[in-house]
Amino acid sequence: LIDTAPKAQVKPRVRFKAGAVDEVKQLMENAGLNTVCAEASCPNMAECFANGTATFMILGSHCSRNCRFCDVTFGGMEPVDVDEPAHVAEAAYKMGLNHVVITCVARDDLPDGGAFQFVRTIKAVREKLPEATIEVLISDMKGEQKSLDRIIKAKPDIINHNIETVKRLTPQIRHRATYQRTLDVLAYCKAKAPEIFTKTGIILGLGEKREEVDQLMEDTRAVGVDFLTIGQYLQPSERHFQIREYISLADFADYRKLALSKGFKFVASGPQVRSSYKAHEALQVGVK
Ligand code: SF4
Ligand code: SF4
Repeated sequence: LIDTAPKAQVKPRVRFKAGAVDEVKQLMENAGLNTVCAEASCPNMAECFANGTATFMILGSHCSRNCRFCDVTFGGMEPVDVDEPAHVAEAAYKMGLNHVVITCVARDDLPDGGAFQFVRTIKAVREKLPEATIEVLISDMKGEQKSLDRIIKAKPDIINHNIETVKRLTPQIRHRATYQRTLDVLAYCKAKAPEIFTKTGIILGLGEKREEVDQLMEDTRAVGVDFLTIGQYLQPSERHFQIREYISLADFADYRKLALSKGFKFVASGPQVRSSYKAHEALQVGVK
């Protein structure tokens, strides 16, 4: 799908200039939408918006899980908004995006984990912005293959599911998710649709050891993951998991080298890197 579309030549209708962060925030507020970019006060907003990338969070802003590194509110999930896919598509169109990232909180309360809303949003964005590439950053959908099938069938360009941390630390850091289930989800998506790029991300500074990160890279490559993001954990508050370390720029560069040597097609590694950072660039590297 990706290699046939003239993605690199996409000319957005309106391109938000670096610095137009407030303008975009206003647009989201008016449409009643959440972007991870604004919610998390992501340091890359100006750069990403100027490059035509933004991350929309669908299915509300309250999560059914309570991961110890994450600042999203636990519990009190909102009802599914049937107009949300159209609003996301409209906002993406107004922003002139050429790469749309759609993510969600984990919705374990919904029978399909929210897969149907992903499908509807992918369709709405594709209708409105046929040339834009689409990345979904999904939860593990409780490991339900039926839910994953729905998403795969909608043919996003990238399926991203974060493994977050090394195997040993996973039970302390993530809630309800397991290291193995994450690998299973990534393996399943790749096996079902090898033409869709798969992607995962980790945060460092949680007390992981280099050999454990090495093993994580081995494990994710073994299930065919194409793209990897490596960022720095920042402790959102006192009650969150305590940060153990600030990783040096040299170490981030080393991890990037290591990951590339293991066969990842694209690796973004640095203190400010988030899952969706330079996502469009990954796609361009990936299709070469
Ligand atoms: Fe948004 Fe992701 Fe870019 Fe941050 S890195 S501004 S969350 S698209
Ligand atoms: Fe945050 Fe995702 Fe964990 Fe929910 S599942 S608490 S959104 S990291």
